[in-house]
Amino acid sequence: MSDIMLKLLNVESSYGPIKAIRGVSLQVERGQIATVLGSNGAGKSTILKTISGIIDPRKGSVEFKGQDITARDPAHIVQRGLSHVPEGREVFPLLSVRDNLLMGAYTRRDRDGVARDMEQVYACFPILKERAAQNAGLLSGGQQQMLAISRALMAAPELILLDEPSLGLSPKLTKEIFEIVVRINRERGTTILLVEQNANMALNAADYGYVLENGRIVMEDSCAALREKDDIKEFYLGMK
Ligand code: ATP
Repeated sequence: MSDIMLKLLNVESSYGPIKAIRGVSLQVERGQIATVLGSNGAGKSTILKTISGIIDPRKGSVEFKGQDITARDPAHIVQRGLSHVPEGREVFPLLSVRDNLLMGAYTRRDRDGVARDMEQVYACFPILKERAAQNAGLLSGGQQQMLAISRALMAAPELILLDEPSLGLSPKLTKEIFEIVVRINRERGTTILLVEQNANMALNAADYGYVLENGRIVMEDSCAALREKDDIKEFYLGMK
């Protein structure tokens, strides 16, 4: 039997009268990279915000490691092992790189573990070690994305929600960031749910994919199978 880490059932979320997601069901297996593809405004960020407790859904349920976390407090959800890297990175620009990393570990009490994870992050991203004392606002876009991902890792998560890591980055940096995401998954075994407009990168990195249009899942399959579908080639990969 597969080990389901995250399960959404018929989730609906709104902003006032605007229905952003309309009955979304999806699941992510432990150890997997799953992706939700969709164009601008499809509702991708809203799915992640609903999972991490930033938005309370109108309907439906969210289960994490077999337990209901629907509309729970975001801090509780982080503590249970789920970290969210928001769109636009949102690092604390006036705090040092090191303090940004420590903010990611604010719910942890195991100081030795935090120190060990900090060393691991620095080993993985030497540029963050070099810049540890500098304000995060002085980093380049790509470096800020590395910091945002590293800050999430500092919570020692079992699942990371990653919102458009390629946003605003050059193709070269986007490739680097995706390599890092895959490495985190392979080396640490961290499960990842990634939402992206860059379908090409996402389908190469992920194992399983969902396609979201106007707040609804319209297609799902292994990424290998999705890459072969005509609709995906035409509308998401620009191949026709
Ligand atoms: P993007 O890549 O542009 O962020 P997305 O797929 O992540 O797109 P969402 O940000 O989830 O889409 O937005 C889904 C819908 O909800 C859109 O119609 C958007 O205009 C609307 N929306 C998002 N945030 C708000 C908000 N704070 N207030 C009102 N409407 C919102």
